[in-house]
Amino acid sequence: MNLSQRDRAVNWHPYTQMKTAEDAIAIVKGKGIYLFDDAGKQYIDAVSSWWVTLHGHAHPYIAQKVSEQLHTLEQVIFAGFTHEPAVRLSENLLKLLPENQKKVFYSDNGSTAVEVALKMCIQFAYNMGKQKTKILAFKHAYHGDTFGAMSVSGRSAWTQPFGEMLFEVIFIDPPTSENINELKSIIQKHSEELACFIYEPLVQGAAGMLMHASEDLSELMRLCRANGILMIQDEVFTGFGRTGKLFAADYLEEQPDIMCFSKGLTGGTMPMGITTASNRIFEAFLSEDRYKTLFHGHSFTANPLACAAALASMELLLKKETLCAIDLICKKHQSFSEELMQHPKVEHVRQTGTILAWEIKNNTRTSYFNETGKAAYRKFLERGIIMRPLGNVLYLVPPYCITSEELDVVYRNIMEVLDELEVLQS
Ligand SMILES: *Cc1c(COP(=O)(O)O)cnc(C)c1O
Repeated sequence: MNLSQRDRAVNWHPYTQMKTAEDAIAIVKGKGIYLFDDAGKQYIDAVSSWWVTLHGHAHPYIAQKVSEQLHTLEQVIFAGFTHEPAVRLSENLLKLLPENQKKVFYSDNGSTAVEVALKMCIQFAYNMGKQKTKILAFKHAYHGDTFGAMSVSGRSAWTQPFGEMLFEVIFIDPPTSENINELKSIIQKHSEELACFIYEPLVQGAAGMLMHASEDLSELMRLCRANGILMIQDEVFTGFGRTGKLFAADYLEEQPDIMCFSKGLTGGTMPMGITTASNRIFEAFLSEDRYKTLFHGHSFTANPLACAAALASMELLLKKETLCAIDLICKKHQSFSEELMQHPKVEHVRQTGTILAWEIKNNTRTSYFNETGKAAYRKFLERGIIMRPLGNVLYLVPPYCITSEELDVVYRNIMEVLDELEVLQS
């Protein structure tokens, strides 16, 4: 049996209907933007392996740093103990965040970073002796797959079996210049019961790369601030350069109370989640009363290997070459989007920094189960490009090490696949 067949016998894959799924492609090696399968075929990873890979696969510098750490200290309990990589990572990260962010809480993925943030907000109110348990979120939000994160995510096919068990959330549309006043009055109406507002800033990734303007989000944040509603800014996807600046926070006029990070945090090398908090949040847990402690932790909290990977990745990210590379991707995406807009099968082209998305016109409602997207996925794979559409939304989220020529190859293939695609016209 080959690797894909052995896989089918024993593995259950994420977001995969195992009855109808094709065999998983067996990847044996990664280098830069390329992945290589067991038959020697190479693929351009145009989606950064689910949006995590920043500097390319098997980056030698990150590998070296993780390897050094592996030979020094691989893991230590983080309650009662600490280590240099965790301290340094916190110091380095906080320097890059809005200046009110003062404390770092470690976990091991984006969903747990969100769970921690939600628990901080709910317990913040509890510790202050207030009854505030409602949460505000955007429609179609995605904050992860654990129960708390799922609760604050938009209701969809993904969450349907768990409907009754998800806690109550007030959902509002993402802001536009038209609906902003209506949204503000909804927030105002519920301000007494709202513990917090959780949002993906600027780009709602899993929803299909929906984008909103920084000015509109800033306005909602200002209102939350004025009404004592805590803000959780989920930068799990938008962090570490994706939006063209280091963080989506760099576009916003208001500072959130809490921030969540994962995905690009380690450059896509190791699983890690971070929740940062302002002193105001942190201090609400300081007490002689043990019941005011944040009772949360994971076995691998602040794993030294993941910290080492994150330190190395952040060092690479801040290099002039990398910042220039991010800039180049932004500029090239911009001119390509003009070309895309001319294509008769394309609509709703949108871009935030290195994230470029567009929709394939069709007569069915945009949905995760869209068949046109699946057909495009297969065509790109045949051409050696990994693009994983969200329904009929196609998008590019490339690693920053992609060259101008390689981007052109991807763009050319996109135009050709669009030409070939059979689109259901209404
Ligand atoms: C992916 C994602 C998460 C969940 O992260 P996982 O590591 O997959 O659990 C949370 N929030 C946002 C915005 C994401 O894109």
